[in-house]
Amino acid sequence: MDFGLTQEQEDLRQEVRAFIAENVSQSLLDEMEGGEEGGRGPEYRELVAKVADKGWIGISWPKQYGGRERSHFERYVMTEEFLVAGAPTKAHFTADRQSGPVLLKYASESLKQKILPAIIRGECSFAIGMSEPESGSDLFAAKTRAEKCDRGWVVNGRKVWTSFAHHADYMIALLRTSSPTKENRRHGLSQFLVDMKAPGITVSPIINSTGQHDFNEVTFENVLLPKDQLLGEVDMAWKQATAELAFERSGPERFLENIYVLTELIRILGAQPGQREAEGIGRLIAQLHTLRQMSISVSGMLSHGKEPSLEAAIVKDVGTNWEQQLPNCARNLATFVNDEGNNRGRFDELIQNATIMAPKYTIQGGTREILRGIIARGLGLR
Ligand SMILES: Cc1cc2nc3c(=O)[nH]c(=O)nc-3n(C[C@H](O)[C@H](O)[C@H](O)COP(=O)(O)OP(=O)(O)OC[C@H]3O[C@@H](n4cnc5c(N)ncnc54)[C@H](O)[C@@H]3O)c2cc1C
Repeated sequence: MDFGLTQEQEDLRQEVRAFIAENVSQSLLDEMEGGEEGGRGPEYRELVAKVADKGWIGISWPKQYGGRERSHFERYVMTEEFLVAGAPTKAHFTADRQSGPVLLKYASESLKQKILPAIIRGECSFAIGMSEPESGSDLFAAKTRAEKCDRGWVVNGRKVWTSFAHHADYMIALLRTSSPTKENRRHGLSQFLVDMKAPGITVSPIINSTGQHDFNEVTFENVLLPKDQLLGEVDMAWKQATAELAFERSGPERFLENIYVLTELIRILGAQPGQREAEGIGRLIAQLHTLRQMSISVSGMLSHGKEPSLEAAIVKDVGTNWEQQLPNCARNLATFVNDEGNNRGRFDELIQNATIMAPKYTIQGGTREILRGIIARGLGLR
């Protein structure tokens, strides 16, 4: 579907840009990098409070919970500006992008009234509890069990690769509530809201390839979930989780996570690049422009209440492959740049970092092969 951004949305972009220039200082970025309190030190907490004061978390949610009832495009513009500026979003991003929308659709009214305003105030962050040791791509093989008891549900099992679970207040978990049926192997899973402070939950760090602690293993030992923390229909979460993944797969974070590589490349090539280098930059920008158009289109479909799973899979596949190749493209285009006044050392350091991070783009949120399977099915090819 063909969508564009309105003048009002572009005005918001200017406001967000000015806000970031004023509030995202070098000392804040150093605080994030230095890992003080896991990158969530006092300056970052202050920034989240200011973003919340602006009404920029849950901006598209209903006013009755504190939202602004603006469109997905406003959210799009903000995400784009935060990513391009390298400004931190860890604390509110997951809740704003997907956990909040899941609660809006499937939580009980009392749960919505309790949690959604807290997310909007920037006081509450979320983790995604889908993957397990033997169930990553094949989500519907999840084994972590929720068994019914008088007071609600008792959970036992293990989730893995859970990003930022060590900071999260809540998780939305995909849990097995009964066995799959012969007719439908996806049957038998349900979604729950999990309070990460509940007794019986252990969060253990998994250190990534850059030495950072982003993801975790989360173990559940007889964790009690009250009845009203069931989200949606028992045993039918496969439909809900598929819709949630459309939110996870289509945003600008799927091609802007390492955009600093492109801006750094343009900086180091200078105002008068050679023909080969100018062509290379032109090609990258043209590809980026197309990706952005596709991503905006999916945003438009989401705001029209559609579930663009196929389109979101295409954005994620094309976008993550693009950003995965970006460090190598940049290194090739900068081959002939020497260090005279160019600060080549900084460029090389950033490219090295981006190269180490690159493999994750085509794994997180669904691997390349899985996305291509979805696309093939959507096109009627399998
Ligand atoms: C940085 C990062 C953050 C993450 N954060 C989270 C998180 O917060 N929450 C969460 O739940 N998960 C998270 N994940 C996990 C991620 O969703 C899984 O790693 C991913 O879905 C793949 O699952 P797996 O690791 O079990 O690999 P597997 O599913 O075992 O896949 C291994 C390989 O086999 C291929 N393969 C598997 N099945 C098929 C098939 N049917 N056809 C063709 N090829 C196939 C895959 O493409 C892959 O190349 C994160 C992962 C990363 C890298």
